[in-house]
Amino acid sequence: MTFLNVDTLNRHYQFHRALRWLFHLGALWGLLHYSLSFFGLVILALNYLICILSITVGYHRYFSHKAFQTSRLIQFAMACLGCCQLQGGPIAWSAVHRHHHRFSDEKEDLHSPVQGFYQAHMGWLLSSKTYEVAFKPLKDLTQFKELVWLDRYNFVPPVIYFALLWLGGFWVEMINPAVGIDGLFLLFWGGILRTVVVWHATWSVNSVCHLWGQQPHQTHDNSKNNLWIALLVQGEGWHNNHHKYPSSARNGMHWLEPDVSYGLIWLLERVGLVWRVRRPHENSV
Ligand SMILES: [Zn+2]
Ligand SMILES: [Zn+2]
Repeated sequence: MTFLNVDTLNRHYQFHRALRWLFHLGALWGLLHYSLSFFGLVILALNYLICILSITVGYHRYFSHKAFQTSRLIQFAMACLGCCQLQGGPIAWSAVHRHHHRFSDEKEDLHSPVQGFYQAHMGWLLSSKTYEVAFKPLKDLTQFKELVWLDRYNFVPPVIYFALLWLGGFWVEMINPAVGIDGLFLLFWGGILRTVVVWHATWSVNSVCHLWGQQPHQTHDNSKNNLWIALLVQGEGWHNNHHKYPSSARNGMHWLEPDVSYGLIWLLERVGLVWRVRRPHENSV
């Protein structure tokens, strides 16, 4: 049964494309069905904040750039939460991202707007080359068996996340039906719509931040600092700073460049959960 082989599914862009279509259609249906509910927007905002940080702090600054160090347990927790964003496992995500830094805006770059906005935003996800790059093993990450397992079974954490949302809504409905929240309501706002919003927020760093904004640093690419993306994607919009200092945990260089992701890393460092936090000028990757 080749179709059910998990490795085949992970490497097959048609499968991921079908999944993205399903989620976009689900998001559209939910928006028409629920319209803009106050509770819904609060649930979306809370889930979005946690989930986007799993990409910015976890997948991006930690797994891809080693901007700080942490325990194996926290590493595993970050990887699990990252998987919940349905952007693949931590090793595959990092492989694609490191490739972007190696070939930024060159012919080899998988998601450069030089090949058009759509290619940079979503088109690259439909290229078989992306999957070739994604499944090249990264020695520093494949040494951890649990990460290799998660990369393979990256659909397990989101299934648990979605099930918990549904159960949470079911529980609220049981104890207080007057609130008007049920399993499907939480699944839609905290799961389906949140996934679609996190997808576009993540992709906009690749597309928007290589097109529009300021370029205070000279880099060998078209990376830009973009305030709107920095606010939406918790500091990732300071993308020109990031291309200049890729392994820095801090992308916003001063208080006029808000960087919530760095704020969280700073806080985790203060309470001793992460250490050896790298800052600008301490680069090598
Ligand atoms: Zn970039
Ligand atoms: Zn990066």
